Amino acid sequence: MNGFEFQAITKVAFGEGRSKQIAEDVKRLCRGVRTVLVTDPGLVQLGVPEPILQALRDGGIEAHLFSDVQSDPSSTSIDQAAAIIRQTGADCVIGLGGGSAMDVAKMAALVAGAEHPAEHYALMANPFEPKRIASIMIPTTSGTGAEVTSTVVFSTTEKRKVWGWDADMGPDLAVLDPTLTIALPPHLTAATGLDAIVHAIEAVAGKRSNSMISAFSFEAIRLLGQSLLIAVKEPANLQARGDLSLGAMLAGMAIEQGGTGIAHCIGHALGTLGRVHHGRAVAIALYETYDWNIEANVPVHADIARALGVADQGQNILALAQAGASRYRELVEQSGLKLSLQSEGLSQTDAMRFADIMQSEENAPMRNNNCRSSSVSELEQFAQTILSR
Ligand SMILES: [Zn+2]
Repeated sequence: MNGFEFQAITKVAFGEGRSKQIAEDVKRLCRGVRTVLVTDPGLVQLGVPEPILQALRDGGIEAHLFSDVQSDPSSTSIDQAAAIIRQTGADCVIGLGGGSAMDVAKMAALVAGAEHPAEHYALMANPFEPKRIASIMIPTTSGTGAEVTSTVVFSTTEKRKVWGWDADMGPDLAVLDPTLTIALPPHLTAATGLDAIVHAIEAVAGKRSNSMISAFSFEAIRLLGQSLLIAVKEPANLQARGDLSLGAMLAGMAIEQGGTGIAHCIGHALGTLGRVHHGRAVAIALYETYDWNIEANVPVHADIARALGVADQGQNILALAQAGASRYRELVEQSGLKLSLQSEGLSQTDAMRFADIMQSEENAPMRNNNCRSSSVSELEQFAQTILSR
């Protein structure tokens, strides 16, 4: 049995249209009224930040915009956002967007406290200065759970995918407003929603699992499993969008405690190898490793199957666990997620390099936390299988 300590760092506010109350949130949380809103150019084009900026200004809050976050964010984006926070003397940073915008906002809030660049803190090489400003996250996707986690992922100037962590990195408030997620196109709804399902599965099956993680994970798997395909087919279905928002947040709470596993090790390696979208990369990775993982902990995989909606008809628990794997693969296939990586220019000739990256220092925590230990030859086999599609 794993001992643990649990305290949710992030306050969660959920509701249709909840983001309209952002000015009150800032006043409650922050010492002053100066904010920097961090978002990406795609959302600016869709007009998503405008009502939030307006609500801030209507409420007497000074709002500066940093909208240059690219997908798979670079350390440069974090440094730019941190510079704006310093220049404006901001009291609060608001991350609006998917995992990339939220991660930049979260890390910039800490990087702004000193003059070092973001890379100085990669892989916990150096400690941050204590956090001096508040952070609020408003996700526009339902995937990473970055709105409630203390970890960020970014690329170095050498294109290496690394992570940053600090106990202070967890946001002070997460505002879940499902109306902000309906503009997300089906292929991204699929990739981000599957990322969230993988989070919940890997946290509850992982080596650090405990009762808190089970509580978060199984409810996350249930909500995400029942609503993912509905949201893919009916983007404006607010009930389904709400389920995905809650499921992704709960899965974020689960990985905050429990970490992830082999699918994230492989997914991050795939992100380094071919700049594949994070959610798609981990969805593909679990698609190929789910069956291999089951034998390490059959009972938990049987419970995952139940949460995914597989009927328990008295079959033995191994059969039930395997039916869960089939259900997961069905979700991936029916969501329209593309399994082949050929259009990214990847083929089996990249397999050895792919397997090497899986074994790198930055991917060790995920590999080591997985319920089943992997040998080098097994990692090479996964690389071959994934690149053969
Ligand atoms: Zn993930």
